[in-house]
Amino acid sequence: MHELGVTKTLLLTAEKECVKRGLSGKIRVKVTIGALTTYKEQAISSYFEALKKGILKDATLKVGVEQGAIQCRSCGMVSLVKDPYMMFCPSCDSPETEIIKGRDVVLNSLEKS
Ligand SMILES: [Zn+2]
Repeated sequence: MHELGVTKTLLLTAEKECVKRGLSGKIRVKVTIGALTTYKEQAISSYFEALKKGILKDATLKVGVEQGAIQCRSCGMVSLVKDPYMMFCPSCDSPETEIIKGRDVVLNSLEKS
């Protein structure tokens, strides 16, 4: 369950931000999971619920998914990834592509709810 580590990091980051901005109580934590990661939304939500404490004990997590995108090294075309096992450029069929979106778990925002 590699979601444990990433959830701990999210909680730490969120906690620091809350302290910095003076947020506490019911906080809505918005997170985006890249479609090209292997993280499961369900697992991150469960760990979040199990591990939240202190300033974040009443926080709720809202998870969104970001679709992956690749850029072709040959022709430069940027395209969305529909299937994570198909990383070919749809324009020139080159397998030399680079993932530019969708491989991270990102803390998007913290709001008082
Ligand atoms: Zn291409």
